[in-house]
Amino acid sequence: MKIPEQPRSFELWINGEWTPSEGGATIPRMSPAHDCEVTRVPAGTAADVDKAVAAAKASFESGTWAQISGAERSAVLYAVADRLIERKEELALLETLESGKPLTQAGFEVEWAAGLWKHAAALCRHLYGESCNTLGAGTISMTLREPIGVVGLITPWNFPLLIASQKAPYALAAGCSAVIKPSELTSATTLLLAEILKECGVPDGVFNVVTGYGNPVGQTLCEHKDVEMISFTGSIVVGKAIAATAACNLKKVCLELGGKNPMIVMDDADLDSVVDAARLGAFFNMGECCNASSRILVQEGIADEFVKRLTDFANEMKVCDPLEDDSKIGAIINETQEAKILGYVQTGREAGATVCMGGGKVESKKGRYLEVTILDHVPADSPVATEEVFGPVLSIVRFQTLEEAIAIANGTDFGLSAGIFTNDYNQAMTASRQLRAGTVWVNTWLEGHAELSFGGYKQSGLGRELGSRAVEEYTEEKSILFSLGKRQP
Ligand code: NAD
Repeated sequence: MKIPEQPRSFELWINGEWTPSEGGATIPRMSPAHDCEVTRVPAGTAADVDKAVAAAKASFESGTWAQISGAERSAVLYAVADRLIERKEELALLETLESGKPLTQAGFEVEWAAGLWKHAAALCRHLYGESCNTLGAGTISMTLREPIGVVGLITPWNFPLLIASQKAPYALAAGCSAVIKPSELTSATTLLLAEILKECGVPDGVFNVVTGYGNPVGQTLCEHKDVEMISFTGSIVVGKAIAATAACNLKKVCLELGGKNPMIVMDDADLDSVVDAARLGAFFNMGECCNASSRILVQEGIADEFVKRLTDFANEMKVCDPLEDDSKIGAIINETQEAKILGYVQTGREAGATVCMGGGKVESKKGRYLEVTILDHVPADSPVATEEVFGPVLSIVRFQTLEEAIAIANGTDFGLSAGIFTNDYNQAMTASRQLRAGTVWVNTWLEGHAELSFGGYKQSGLGRELGSRAVEEYTEEKSILFSLGKRQP
């Protein structure tokens, strides 16, 4: 795949058309792997956000989307899924150029995103209220689910199209209008998504994109009195700031935040499965993944063999230009992230961990690559074992008993995902109940399905995405009571 000779420039997407930013400033994006500018997007302003929210509000109030039937909305969302697949190559290339992730993986993510649009399309026709039969013969009562209104969607850089697709189709399925702010590092595919929605029949103003920095774009969206809800995916620090800002008009807030996800490996586990899952869990998307199994807790009896097999396997993972077909590990998103990751490796060394492989940079003339890194004998309470590294660094913590493993696993402020590998039914069930995390995998990792909800316990988040109630998150519930006959004084 060739890198385009010129960077691709975009405008904002407001009210169904490309719209220049009021401010005129732009953000150039350099490819982390190729040392050249690949895209350029507007650095949006507060005035741009006001314009986008006004368009969203007008579209919501017009009823062109909010008031049509679920079946009609469903047809449009199915069409979006098909169009994403038709434009898969273009979308995947842009994601790779902006983020540094392997192109084959980016293509897979477009397919995954398309599947979410289909899931939301199906849910469009299944939004139900309730009726209560016990209020007496003189009444009929019901509850209705109504779209919450204009929603603000704020997304991070690691899975731009995929995370936009965990939010937007469900908001649209409910009948909401949206303003989305992608990460300033990876905005291009969200902008193309807007164009696709228009092609597929989403009315003007229902989906708007304002690119730019957290402040002012994200901040203004969170402060805006006409925005009824913010759905945010990103870091805990920004999530907390957003929750505080959104309190200005008591907006509903849904937060999908970070994780430090423990994978527990018991002595009786099937090592082939564990090694495969550990490699995927820890190094998928260069470890820049909220669900990364960046700490693996291994029972002492199997630990030496596990470390040897995982290291052999990981040694075969090719770290190289993400445009190459066999690239497994691409480039790191930016210098700040690279320095942060290397800093964590250093803290691991200082805490007494053994560096089994990697630990440094991969020399490259053009790209920013880090070695696949495995640390063994990591103290359970050290920073590299308790804080989110967001890079290709795996910490192995050894333990003796399941009780000890669960205590270590639950011993952080995070609670996004967790898992256990064992062939013992009792151990698997005990861990499933006792692990404090929104997702618990048993004998697998990173297996996601739109049918299952996703979100965090503790500081990993508030609310849930996906699952059968994904559309409900974007609704208000109204109770209606009919009094039959003459009202009794
Ligand atoms: P980040 O929190 O720095 O930024 C996320 C988004 O928020 C960006 O669009 C950013 O511009 C915007 N933002 C920044 N300051 C803001 C403010 N004051 N008001 C409003 N918006 C603001 O996160 P990131 O570095 O882009 O992404 C990495 C983080 O995201 C990691 O912590 C990772 O765990 C988390 N993440 C979580 C999930 C999940 O589903 N739980 C998925 C992917 C990533």
